[in-house]
Amino acid sequence: MTKQPLTLTILQLYPDDMNIYGDWGNVLTIIKRAKWHGIQAELINYNVGDSFPAHADIIIGGGGQDSGQLKVQQDLQKIAPRLHELADNDTPMLMVCGLYQLFGRFFKTRKGETIPGISIFNAETHAGPERLIGNISTASEQFGNIIGYENHSGQTYLDSDMQPLGKVTRGAGNNGQDDTEGCIYRNVIGTYLHGSLLPKNPAIADALIEEAMKNKYGDFTPTVIEDRFAHKAREIALKRPR
Ligand code: GLN
Repeated sequence: MTKQPLTLTILQLYPDDMNIYGDWGNVLTIIKRAKWHGIQAELINYNVGDSFPAHADIIIGGGGQDSGQLKVQQDLQKIAPRLHELADNDTPMLMVCGLYQLFGRFFKTRKGETIPGISIFNAETHAGPERLIGNISTASEQFGNIIGYENHSGQTYLDSDMQPLGKVTRGAGNNGQDDTEGCIYRNVIGTYLHGSLLPKNPAIADALIEEAMKNKYGDFTPTVIEDRFAHKAREIALKRPR
């Protein structure tokens, strides 16, 4: 009997409106690394008005302008119950910047509009007086040093019951004040880091893939991937000025 191939369905949220500073690279990285791990990945792009797919193993979302966030807000509320259900069933998700903010309670923009979020993270975001821009590195217990690039007006404050993704070692992170960056709830990761994030942080990409495969097949043995280029990219990114 021939062995069934391992498969993985990636759902990308709002690529038409929420996808900046290379965020699409996160999806490309998952597809590529899945292939190296012997898994066939399928990509579903979900945009405003689409019907939400019956099944998704990993969900990825990116950043956007305030205008992009305003465009997706209503649709996001519509799919919120499904996203909550998936998050509570330990579906791995990665939400960058604009969608990270909307996975919290709300984002209050500089113009004073309040864009409601879906409260998967107990956190809220208020636009600050200046944009927080530049290369950033953080230290995380689970993933080691996380390296990326941030560009946001929003300052995010986590409730005390929430766990940050990392501690800022260089840059601003959630709000430029408390040294926290991102948030992690079950297998849902929120972060301000673009860059793209995953090519330079393969530990996070592999963790998302591994969790998805464990959920789907019970267990999973990853391949050891030779990450010479990713390590080189990390080294160079660390030396770049803020
Ligand atoms: N518009 C949001 C802000 O300025 C998100 C920015 C982003 O996704 N890069 O904070």
